[in-house]
Formats: sequence, structure tokens, C-alpha cells
Amino acid sequence: MEMKTRIEEKFTTLFGTGGEMYASAGRINLIGEHTDYNGGYVFPGAIDCGIMAKIKVNGTKKVKAFSLDYDEYVEFGLEEEDKPLQQWARYIFGVCRETIKRGGKVEGFDCVFAGDVPLGAGLSSSAALESTFAFAINEIFDNKIDKFELAKIGQSTEHNYCGVKCGIMDQFASIFGKSGSLIRLNCKTLEYKYYPFDPRGYQVVLIDSCVKHELASSAYNKRRESCENAAAAIRKNHPEVEFLSDAKRVWLEEVRDQIPEEDFLRAEYVIGEVQRVLDVCDALERGDYETVGEMMYQTHFGLSKLYEVSCPELDFLNKLARKCDVTGSRVMGGGFGGCTINLVKDDLYYNFVSAVEEQFPEKFGHPVKIYDVVISDGARKIS
Ligand code: ADP
Ligand code: MG
Repeated sequence: MEMKTRIEEKFTTLFGTGGEMYASAGRINLIGEHTDYNGGYVFPGAIDCGIMAKIKVNGTKKVKAFSLDYDEYVEFGLEEEDKPLQQWARYIFGVCRETIKRGGKVEGFDCVFAGDVPLGAGLSSSAALESTFAFAINEIFDNKIDKFELAKIGQSTEHNYCGVKCGIMDQFASIFGKSGSLIRLNCKTLEYKYYPFDPRGYQVVLIDSCVKHELASSAYNKRRESCENAAAAIRKNHPEVEFLSDAKRVWLEEVRDQIPEEDFLRAEYVIGEVQRVLDVCDALERGDYETVGEMMYQTHFGLSKLYEVSCPELDFLNKLARKCDVTGSRVMGGGFGGCTINLVKDDLYYNFVSAVEEQFPEKFGHPVKIYDVVISDGARKIS
């Protein structure tokens, strides 16, 4: 049964008539990886899987929520001490609290919700959940909080109620996402611009390697440190360099013998990546998806050989994509596991996917998961 129908049926059973339907989306990031904390660009878009919720004000001070996917009912109040035990409910509770902290009105409501973003696969199911409720609550209680602040409500929910110190990209994409458009977001200024993304004749395919290597968090801190080192060295000659992404390639060359080789390579990747986002934007304005794909391969090379956040599974998937003449392929997200994102011509799709499904398990002993996605609308009301 369709998700919307399942939600409606359960809602009627639990809460009776009335209510409005809201939804938001997971996201991909086409290019611009490890650029956010360097003040550079990211280039995400909302996708055609997300969270859907039916919501109705209930005239009490309590939220009554049913998760169809967990088959679980939770009730909670709206004061700080009412934090629910269930992780999924904490996202909703956090959104309520963060709205209240910003002066918004939130009172009790009934809701039933479900989703089809794979959990923990790097498509940000959590941002989809936060954005659905941040958007819905804003409309239902007529709070007139702007979209930027709605994204920040989701981000602060992760920080303050779910223990995840994330950036703004996921919630931004989920709130601002638009069908057929990617969003270039400047992580330093939060300026953003939509670019057309409508790759007719191509598929966007995510391949989840289903591995997560332990290195991730300690390596992440080390990468940040290298970037800050390199930026500090460049800043001595060029005081305008606040973040590494402000630096030109030649400025990095000037300090090559003043910083460890490792820091140089990390910085080389970041400066290259910021430029690649701009190049991809230009290519999209021309509808040139072959150049977009080539940039994705360059990003993968950089993440693997300069930034060193890939792993054998991801490098294998990338190589296999090349072998199958896939237009573009790269690791998506922080690295050391998770997904590759691939831009695949329609007539090569079957060949590529079957090669992956056959060869990956042969080499690594477990299957991958494959998701086809289409760039779609983010947070919205459904009539
Ligand atoms: P992701 O990378 O997908 O965002 P997270 O660990 O950040 O992974 O978020 C996953 C969590 O978000 C789940 O453990 C759950 O608490 C919540 N969540 C996501 N989707 C749903 C859903 N469909 N129903 C209930 N909770 C969900
Ligand atoms: Mg998440």
C-alpha cells in the first residue's frame, strides 16, 4: 500500500478525522565534499524519498505521535524535562523545543508519520524527519519563521537533542530543495543559488557499500587540523584568508616547504574541490553532464589519494564505474564507507548495476544496496 494511504488509515484509526499532510526529503550532495568546515561550497539537492506526516492540533499540551516504521506510539509534553526516551521521538521533540526557543508557538498535536529514506545510509533520513516537522509546525501554528531558521531548527535539534554535531547542509537541502534543481550553498556566508539539474538520459544511482570503517571520527579531526594548519600558513602572506577555501592554489605553493607534506596534500584537495564545484555549476548551465561526471571522478581521486578518506570498497566501486563507462562516480559523504554517487547513462545502467551486484560481493563477501534517486521538492504541504 502507498505510504500516504497507510498514514491516513492509521491516523483515522488513532485520531479520527481532520489533519493536514506534510512531507520533506532526504538529500544527495553532487559535489563539494569536506568543503563545509573549510568555508567552501557544497552542492546538495533534495531527493524523491523522504518523510511524510499527517498532523492535527489536539487542543492539549501533549504531542501524541505514532511512527509507522517503528510501529510505536509515544506521548510527550513540551517542556525541556519532557524529553522522550525513543530516539525517533527526540527528533520531533527537539524540533518543538527549538521552535519554542525561537519564540514560536507550539501546542499539542496528534501525528502519524512514515518514511522511505534508508536509515544511516548517508541520505539524511534524520534531516528529512526534522524538516517535515519544522515546516509543518511553522505552518500549523502560523509562526512565520523563515526557511533559514527552519533549517537551523533541524540542525540545533541534532546538536541539542540527538548528540550529532552536524553542519547545516542536510537540513538546508531538505528545507530549500526544489524539483530539478541543485543548491550551491556557500558554507561561510550561507548565500545560495539554484542550478538546473535535469539529466535526461542519465540516472543518479547511489551504491551503498554497507561498510563503515572505524577510523572515521579520529581521521576527521586530523583532516580538520591539517586544513587549519595550511590556512594559517597561507594567512601569514595573505591576511584575507579566513578559511582554506579563500586561498588560491598558487598561495598554497608559496608555503609548500613550511608545512608538512600531508597538510599540503589535504589543502590541495580542498582548494581543488572548491573550484570543481564552480566548474560543475558552469557545466550545468550548459547542460553538459559529461563534464559534471568528469569532475566527480576528479573528486574521487582527490578524496582517495590526497585527502585519503576512501577505503578499498569505495575505490573498488569507483574503478568498476570507470570500467563500465559510467559518466561520473565518487564517494559521497565523509568517507571510510557509505555510498558512492554515480551519474549513469540510461543505456549503461543495467550493465553497471549487474556488474556491481556480481563483483562486489565476490570481492568483499557481502552485497551492496542500490538506490536510484531523482532530484525533487523538499519540505512542503501535500494537498
Ligand atoms: P541518516 O544518515 O539517515 O540521517 P541518522 O542516524 O542521522 O541517519 O538518523 C536516523 C534516525 O532518524 C533513526 O534512527 C530514527 O531515529 C530517525 N528516523 C529516520 N527515518 C525515520 C522513520 N522513517 N521513522 C522513524 N524515525 C526515523
Ligand atoms: Mg542524520
